[in-house]
Amino acid sequence: MSEKTILVWFRNDLRIHDNEILLEATRKADKILPVYCFDPFYFKQNLSGNPKTGNLRARFLLESVANLRKNLKKIGGELVIRIGNPAEILPQLADEYQVNEVYHHREVAHEETEISEQVETTLWKIKLNLKHFIGHTLYHKEDLPFPIKDIPDSFAVFKKKVERDSNVRPCTATPENIVTPEITDAGELPDLKQLGLDEPFDDPRSENRFVGGEDEALNQLDSFFINNSHILIGKKGAQINLSKLSPWIALGCISLRQVYWEVIKYQQLNNTHYPGLLLDLLWRDYFRFMFKKHGQKFIATKDSTDAADVAVNQDELFESWKNGDTGFALVDAIMHELNATGYINNSNRQVVAGFLVKELNVDWKKGAAYFEEKLIDYSPASNWGNWAFIAGANDARESRYNITSIQITEQNTKNDYIDTWLPATKSDDYQAFSAGIVLK
Ligand SMILES: Cc1cc2nc3c(=O)[nH]c(=O)nc-3n(C[C@H](O)[C@H](O)[C@H](O)COP(=O)(O)OP(=O)(O)OC[C@H]3O[C@@H](n4cnc5c(N)ncnc54)[C@H](O)[C@@H]3O)c2cc1C
Repeated sequence: MSEKTILVWFRNDLRIHDNEILLEATRKADKILPVYCFDPFYFKQNLSGNPKTGNLRARFLLESVANLRKNLKKIGGELVIRIGNPAEILPQLADEYQVNEVYHHREVAHEETEISEQVETTLWKIKLNLKHFIGHTLYHKEDLPFPIKDIPDSFAVFKKKVERDSNVRPCTATPENIVTPEITDAGELPDLKQLGLDEPFDDPRSENRFVGGEDEALNQLDSFFINNSHILIGKKGAQINLSKLSPWIALGCISLRQVYWEVIKYQQLNNTHYPGLLLDLLWRDYFRFMFKKHGQKFIATKDSTDAADVAVNQDELFESWKNGDTGFALVDAIMHELNATGYINNSNRQVVAGFLVKELNVDWKKGAAYFEEKLIDYSPASNWGNWAFIAGANDARESRYNITSIQITEQNTKNDYIDTWLPATKSDDYQAFSAGIVLK
């Protein structure tokens, strides 16, 4: 019998641990061809006229792919890297390496699913099957206590039922050894210039320099337990632990299940609790499942920013928001942090998103597209889902908006944060802005 080769198409699952497509391929095939494509689609212009992927996120992606290549090498594999449309590249590689099947993790958001449909079509033309796996959520779709079409739209009901009736599956094993076909041209990792981007500047005010890759994701998780370093003081002085894992989770450098089981282990060993972190992981699942259930309608069922509501000078207002030049100290400080680092915490995202939509009356989709470019942790379902919630663009109102939101206290708005992110000379002139617009 002839050898079987499976092409493993990496997308937002850039890891070797708890990666079912990699494990399954090693079990089913003699040889594995791991491939990553830098798709020019993600580097073209978005709604706000800027690149869909900004340079901070692109650098993080490059680091993550480089780390995946290194980790695959450790277990005997070689990652093939290409720049181009996967619907053209994958069939070419499949032909060149006599591939029998292609594996990937299914996505939920519109653009991502469209890309996989194109890949599926072009593979089908050469009689190859694209096999879909579920690997991005904490709870497996098959283990939910309801079919996708009946998932409750209210987060509170979703949470209650899932936690009562479902279990998180254990992580899958890491393959010890993989065999790749003899590769003639593995392809170089591109640099930012090849992707049409400049080198980012690392702002010294930034708390973190997020470095992409699975190794760093695991370090970040360890440091969360060891240092408990990213703590915010919330309402009534309660401490909120932020994992700052989102950039790695977004690219799948670490799975939600890995985070979940590490938290459970750590809680048992140390008799501590991280209910906030577990709840947040569930929020991520919820947005993905909402996209699975409603598709694009989830962000468009009730477009609150209809033409009559939008400010006549919305382009001007949007520019001032983007540049952190609205005259509201907290909003401007947050936008300066976002522009400089690519990361702001959840509470601050709510502040600036709510401000754009409710105070400036700018179309929320412009803001969401801007976040898409800027956020290192950009993830379609989480970003567009959260924005749509804030804009009231869908019917899932019941859950709105007591996500793990921390209301920023008056004290917080005045202290170091604003001084750090706004030039000192300007801050006296700014209007005080207490968090009245934070949606609670
Ligand atoms: C307008 C807006 C846009 C957002 N865009 C994104 C985005 O593009 N990508 C993204 O990952 N998150 C997004 N979020 C959710 C949230 O702000 C970030 O996930 C969180 O700030 C990441 O920090 P952390 O890793 O320290 O979170 P933690 O509090 O430590 O939570 C752990 C993980 O849970 C997930 N999570 C936490 N809160 C949410 C939430 N509200 N919705 C979905 N998942 C959540 C993230 O994966 C996060 O890493 C957005 C929120 C708002 C209000």
